[in-house]
Amino acid sequence: MAYLHFARNVLASMFRHPATTEYPLAPRQYQNITRGKVEINIDDCIFCGMCMRTCPADAIRVDRAGKTWEINPFSCVQCGGCVEHCPKKCLKMDTNYTKPSEKKTEMVFHADTPQT
Ligand code: SF4
Ligand code: SF4
Repeated sequence: MAYLHFARNVLASMFRHPATTEYPLAPRQYQNITRGKVEINIDDCIFCGMCMRTCPADAIRVDRAGKTWEINPFSCVQCGGCVEHCPKKCLKMDTNYTKPSEKKTEMVFHADTPQT
């Protein structure tokens, strides 16, 4: 009887959709609420530094004079605090995660036009 049960399961599995995705051929689709990584629309940033002061992981550096915004995605713990506190709403959580890297590289964004 056990063999019959086993054979029935094997046959059924042959016609079912696989329970897993065929990664990397079919990349994983994350849900909208996934906290992947922080992204900035640098054109709207006023370099107030609120995100830097909010960050519990010390992952953000803002240089008001130099008009640069910098993040170390490997230090970020995806808490979403910077996104929540940005007065210009120019930060958002992207649903995709930071790609693996051999080095903890920082990402630097610079304002193209001078801010007043
Ligand atoms: S809180 Fe927003 S506007 Fe202020 S420096 Fe950070 S990203 Fe720019
Ligand atoms: S999501 Fe949290 S840990 Fe990551 S940069 Fe923003 S405040 Fe810092």
